[in-house]
Amino acid sequence: MLKAYKYRLYPSESQIEILVKHIGACRFTYNWALEQKNKAYEVDKKYLSRFELQHRLVHDLKPNNEWLKEVNSQSLLNTLINLESAFTRFFREKKGFPNFKSRKNPVQSFQIPQHYSVDFETDTIKLPKLKQPIKAKLHRKFEGKLKTATVSITPTGKYYISILVDDGKELPEKEMFDEKSTLGIDVGLTHFAILSNGEKIDNPKHLRNSMDRMKILQKRTSKKQKGSKNRNKARLAVSTLHEKIRNQRTDFLHKTSSKLISENQAIAVETLNISGMLKNHCLAQAIGDVSWSVFFRQLEYKAERYGKTLLKIGQFEPSSKLCNVCGFHNGKMTLKDRYWSCPECNTEHDRDINAAINIKKFALQNQNLLNI
Ligand SMILES: [Zn+2]
Repeated sequence: MLKAYKYRLYPSESQIEILVKHIGACRFTYNWALEQKNKAYEVDKKYLSRFELQHRLVHDLKPNNEWLKEVNSQSLLNTLINLESAFTRFFREKKGFPNFKSRKNPVQSFQIPQHYSVDFETDTIKLPKLKQPIKAKLHRKFEGKLKTATVSITPTGKYYISILVDDGKELPEKEMFDEKSTLGIDVGLTHFAILSNGEKIDNPKHLRNSMDRMKILQKRTSKKQKGSKNRNKARLAVSTLHEKIRNQRTDFLHKTSSKLISENQAIAVETLNISGMLKNHCLAQAIGDVSWSVFFRQLEYKAERYGKTLLKIGQFEPSSKLCNVCGFHNGKMTLKDRYWSCPECNTEHDRDINAAINIKKFALQNQNLLNI
């Protein structure tokens, strides 16, 4: 089983110089490879394979760019693998065409596929091309085989390493589930998530406070003159708060997904229309959207890890309009209606809880675990 462990790094000035060089060189190589592929296709209608690119990297790009030799060559080769997967996603899942990497991306990173080591005794990590090990805060121990590591730098200059570890264990067998041990989850605008057992989960207060503060900071930044010292200062404050929000959110999502997976045998969700969501520019909404897709991914891999089942149903618009008791379709309901009473069976409904119950019902029907 693969698990990721993320640690804060505390590199020295000279180590920072080398890490930054790696990030720059990997971005440079990735963009060069993408350009080679684009050109080959435009000019000769030819598809350049990763191995052809690898050949050109070694025999053309590197001899003409001496500085690339100061960088771990496996990290450079790894960018070609990443580019290949970006193209696979594009062709197979019709996801966006691979983009050039910009130095303006908020988080910059590079990968190390092997030949690095972690020392829990001295709290250090040894990376290729760096003579001295880097100080790290190794707050969690692990055992297993080291796979790819990713070193990243945040907009406020913090360094992290995320290490993929294979513990050699098989995934557990799936546990049986039935109606009682299955939970339906609906994500909504009024709450982070609504559960079929009637529970509503909100973003924690400290995260909401940070999000409110973000609105104020962004407004303040936009009023400052472009290029001025004050604007730069304000922008740094925005980046710092962004990082804080990201950490608070990650923490909340992990706690919530772990709790739900441990308490239930199966979880039913409605697949989200992510592309539709990305068009939404409202900040709080944007943060919510990202949260949901991260949350669903966490539910998915935690279900795998603990032998639970994640049931996904396609987006189903009337899930909030159908009475979960008698199946009556309330066509008159608008987005504003939070509560309604079913004219057929007189059940009083909370719109969101009714939707969560329906999601659970549809998911179980798909499994033939529910007869109606
Ligand atoms: Zn009804």
